[in-house]
Amino acid sequence: MVTGKPLFSVDQIQKRVRELADRITRDYEGTDLVAVCILSGAFMFFSDLVRNIRIPIKVDFVTCSSYVKTDTTGEVTVHSDIREDIKGKHVLLVEDIADTGITLNFLREHYSQRGPEGIKICTLLDKKARRAVDIPIDYSGFDIPNEYVVGYGLDYSNRFRNLPYISVFKKSV
Ligand code: 5GP
Repeated sequence: MVTGKPLFSVDQIQKRVRELADRITRDYEGTDLVAVCILSGAFMFFSDLVRNIRIPIKVDFVTCSSYVKTDTTGEVTVHSDIREDIKGKHVLLVEDIADTGITLNFLREHYSQRGPEGIKICTLLDKKARRAVDIPIDYSGFDIPNEYVVGYGLDYSNRFRNLPYISVFKKSV
């Protein structure tokens, strides 16, 4: 079940997303940037983020998974990869949540082999208590406690992604 009060309301999320987009706009002005959406969880965050970035960028999408229900398998599978040539370009990986860090670490390695000018990471949520791999987070929306959350793109068994806010999810007994 999804617990009562949202952890982050629609207004809180939208305000923070605009702040992140402003910073990204300033930092990447005059550069060649490819923003990569890590599907499926980041789809809502990504679309709000890029529509608030006020410089011309390219967007692309990677679909990968490491979770089954509420547990990570520790192994990342790329189901479909980006199509852009990122050689000599700046890459911004956009993720819904940094948990163990395994997915972001894997994707950073995966794309660094293609000769980009640089790779940075933007995540809406950061669950630092669960980190297993040390990854640099360049843009972070909110730190969250060690709880399983759903909404605003984040799922439990592909449900709850369409909630416009973020809530804690508890398995009912
Ligand atoms: P990591 O590789 O950092 O352990 O996990 C990254 C992925 O795990 C996220 O993209 C997300 O799909 C999933 N994940 C981690 N924590 C949560 C959570 O609290 N809620 C949901 N819905 N997914 C999570």
